[in-house]
Amino acid sequence: MTDPDCLFCKIVAGDIPAEIVHTGERTVAFRDINPQAPLHVLVVPRDHEPNAAASATADASMFAEIATTARTVATGEGYDDYRLVFNTGAGVGQTVFHTHCHVLAGRPMGWPPG
Ligand code: AMP
Repeated sequence: MTDPDCLFCKIVAGDIPAEIVHTGERTVAFRDINPQAPLHVLVVPRDHEPNAAASATADASMFAEIATTARTVATGEGYDDYRLVFNTGAGVGQTVFHTHCHVLAGRPMGWPPG
């Protein structure tokens, strides 16, 4: 399922350029256009859902696939420690309403996040 108006669907389809770092059967990973850390990659399911919970409802195995893709990307770039973030809702900063997992690494990170 795709949404013709969705930015990340267009990236997945190759209609908008992005620096793709990994392609899987059900996921694609590309570098964030506005990186917040030395490694900042977005892992997205190919299927359009508006957020992580919706993707999990549609297919419970999707979380596992996103997590393993994130690990492949992070370790492939030399990072064993990394942070995964799913912003869910405009109130916490979600700006693109196609499920995506931020994979961040390469600098010290505080907790709780800002
Ligand atoms: P969020 O705020 O959690 O919805 O994250 C959306 C992310 O998408 C932000 O970190 C943006 O910098 C990133 N982004 C927006 N447009 C693009 C693009 N064309 N290519 C790569 N990343 C993008």
